[in-house]
Amino acid sequence: MRRGPLLSPDRDSCIFPNPVIRMMCPDHSEPDAADSTPSLNFVQEIIAEDIRSGRFDGQVHTRFPPEPNGLLHIGHAKSICLNFGLAAAHAGGTCNLRFDDTNPTKEETHYVQAIKEDVRWLGFDWEDREFYASDYFDQLYDWAVRMINDGNAYVCDLTGEQMREYRGTLREPGRDSPFRNRTVEENLDLFSRMKKGEFPDGSRTLRAKIDMASPNVNLRDPVMYRILHAHHHRTGDTWCMYPMYDFTHGQSDSIERITHSICTLEFENHRPLYDWYLDTLNIYHPRQIEFARLNLTYTVMSKRKLLQLVNDQDVSGWDDPRMPTICGLRRRGYTPESIREFCREIGVSKFNSTIDVTVLENSLRTDLNRTAPRVMAVLRPLKVVIENYPEGEGEELEAINNPEDPTAGTRKIPFSRELYIEQDDFMEDAPKKFFRLAPGREVRLRYAFFLKCVDVIKDDKTGQVVELRCTYDPETRGGHAPDGRKVKGTIHWVSAPHAYNAEVRLYDHLFAKPNPDEAPEGQDFKANLNPSSLEVLGDCKLESSLATAAPGSRFQFERLGYFCVDTVDSKPGNPVFNRTVTLRDTWAKVRKQEERSGKKKKKK
Ligand code: ATP
Ligand code: MG
Repeated sequence: MRRGPLLSPDRDSCIFPNPVIRMMCPDHSEPDAADSTPSLNFVQEIIAEDIRSGRFDGQVHTRFPPEPNGLLHIGHAKSICLNFGLAAAHAGGTCNLRFDDTNPTKEETHYVQAIKEDVRWLGFDWEDREFYASDYFDQLYDWAVRMINDGNAYVCDLTGEQMREYRGTLREPGRDSPFRNRTVEENLDLFSRMKKGEFPDGSRTLRAKIDMASPNVNLRDPVMYRILHAHHHRTGDTWCMYPMYDFTHGQSDSIERITHSICTLEFENHRPLYDWYLDTLNIYHPRQIEFARLNLTYTVMSKRKLLQLVNDQDVSGWDDPRMPTICGLRRRGYTPESIREFCREIGVSKFNSTIDVTVLENSLRTDLNRTAPRVMAVLRPLKVVIENYPEGEGEELEAINNPEDPTAGTRKIPFSRELYIEQDDFMEDAPKKFFRLAPGREVRLRYAFFLKCVDVIKDDKTGQVVELRCTYDPETRGGHAPDGRKVKGTIHWVSAPHAYNAEVRLYDHLFAKPNPDEAPEGQDFKANLNPSSLEVLGDCKLESSLATAAPGSRFQFERLGYFCVDTVDSKPGNPVFNRTVTLRDTWAKVRKQEERSGKKKKKK
């Protein structure tokens, strides 16, 4: 097995916090600049070899198999891009959407709808190939009966706890169940009565007769069916026993004539069982290939944990913009292009690793930089009155919509005597290197004029600065002084009488630790929730054009970041904005500062 150079002693937690170093890992290697053909990842290599050798008649049929027990997250996006991408890369290739719905107690129809919406939004199309494992329940039952007839399966009366005892351990072999040698007739009779609903939940199982001494515990007579009197979202009350995932998955792949069944690494130990069922039933046999699941820093990626956050109301729902779910990312303002690009960039490997969440954010920044129109918005307003600008008058200035996209054109923005600027852009006792506004200093107002602060008005009681009195230089329209005078800082602004008041929500990582599972003794991942992951600003002043912005539309607020109109809480004419991502990776800056101060301390 190949290993990356940076594996930590614990093989399961290889962390490549630095994307540059991560890219140097052989499994993430970029194509050789001299060689224009991109290198294949190991799954593509396997498929290419199968095509060369004529296995599966040169076909590529994959599937994405979600269990409808929660919503999709960014980890699933990796699997979706991989499966649909592999099919699209081959002539005649197809990818099915198959719901693995074998556990009726946790599955719900609304998850099915939401999953379909997410896959479609990511840009993939399963056409008419929408399948459900539950569609195969009759066929699976027939196969189970065949296995009983062939002496390959038996009904077992051990309780769950007894079965665990009999199973043995990784070091010790298991023991045969006392029910292992029931006759075929007795097994057939009991199995059909299990189906009829004669026995209570948990009282009996159907088990494959393989080998209780196998070094692979998955082959120690695994359960094929369990009794479960539960209503199924598709089959209703037809069944009161359900096939186990392992007995369902490979056979579903087989029925659908999947060629390459791609799943995550934890199923590697299940592959011998996957193969055993298909060989024993002597049916069409796809090839299972395992790849490493995606883990991200500051993120939990398990549906169970995400559901817990939803149920405990730590977030507003599955689509809370801080959630790593596809619907959360969508509401946050992520584009499908940026998610697909991220999945392409991280590649596919055989090693579990944790990707720095900034890699995801950077692919979003790259996309939005190209596409998002620029606007001006002031999040924490400070009022400015321009004393030499005539009262009651105004003018329009021309602003560039997107410097990265010349076709985006320009727009007119109103200017007047009263403006808002960002509180942060003013400092009363400013150090020399503060290039923004301070008493007696001059700055450039973006797309407008030079502005000089001449007086500061404070609240009598609190001493807080509440208003700046300024003057402007009418000769500097457009941002340049005819006398060649220079200013170092340019700040954004909004005309006060034209400003549009809105709520803006600032998001940060949902967890405060890179690995949320690293919790203090006796506590779980929730101990690491970031208490400042959401900040709501209620009195933001936005450029007037934003009042009619459509839900879901994305903008760059100049100097602040990328924002989008919330699709849930916005009202017509009253949009609420989500900060999608800051312009720069502020966390990287914090880390760099920490590193620097660490080095300084060492020197001392
Ligand atoms: P979770 O552990 O989050 O509940 P799961 O594996 O149980 O995920 P499924 O609905 O069974 O969720 O997953 C559908 C497909 O997505 C499977 O093929 C699974 O291997 C893949 N998948 C799930 N999580 C990830 C991940 N983090 N990275 C890559 N692929 C994933
Ligand atoms: Mg699963």
